[in-house]
Amino acid sequence: MGERWRIEVDRDVCIGSGMCAATAPDGFRLDSARRSRPLAGERDPDEQVLTAAENCPVEAITITLAGTGEEVFPPEE
Ligand code: SF4
Repeated sequence: MGERWRIEVDRDVCIGSGMCAATAPDGFRLDSARRSRPLAGERDPDEQVLTAAENCPVEAITITLAGTGEEVFPPEE
């Protein structure tokens, strides 16, 4: 425990479905260009944010450990 997550959204991949903001309203918000932005670049591990990343239809969301860069989602092969 104690490890922080780094959240990133690839805006070139995001199609603005809004699914992530609906799943994790305190994790993501759509901007005026209808692209998702993480509300915090780093945050404590959050089940809703992970679910949002898993359910993004185009896999635009990546989660890594802030300290080591190790992949949380998508998981390393
Ligand atoms: S779920 Fe994926 S495609 Fe939809 S707004 Fe979020 S990041 Fe973009």
